[in-house]
Amino acid sequence: MNNSARANIAARTQTLIAAVAFMIGGLALTQNAQAADGPPTPDEYVAHVGGDARIVPAGALKLDGGRMICGHRPTVLDNALDDYAAAYPGFLIINPKLMNRVSTPVKKWIYSHECAHQFRGPDEETADCFAVQRGRRQGWLTDAGLEEVCAFIKPAKGDAMHLSGSHRCESMRRCFADSKVR
Ligand SMILES: [Zn+2]
Repeated sequence: MNNSARANIAARTQTLIAAVAFMIGGLALTQNAQAADGPPTPDEYVAHVGGDARIVPAGALKLDGGRMICGHRPTVLDNALDDYAAAYPGFLIINPKLMNRVSTPVKKWIYSHECAHQFRGPDEETADCFAVQRGRRQGWLTDAGLEEVCAFIKPAKGDAMHLSGSHRCESMRRCFADSKVR
């Protein structure tokens, strides 16, 4: 591991921990409920959010009939998540209620984008590229599917972490066409 890889992992850990802290704050949990030594496990997450949240073991998740794998990471299904999906250290979360509103390639792109954060760190452009190249390699993303992804992210406004939707889309089109896997 080189220095930049180490720095990248440190940055990712900080970002993810910040995200976890924010989320737990948003759920108005007591301080006792938050493990002092790190982010929650999937079991702790499910216990915290309650409702019908449940854990799907690694390798068992299917999106529109297609099996989705993110290394040995499980997925928590949480209809109360305030976004389509999220990456937590060691597991993914998806909101089935929101996911059911989008097409199959968009679902798989969302999952793969969050999976990319597990392995490639917090950079959004890198996660986008990882997701479209995985889709091309596995055969679930075509040019038409990529345009659906572009339409899906179009309303996103740019901020420090998330470039504007159209900018991300240009970058993904380049990545999709690039035979060199990043
Ligand atoms: Zn992201």
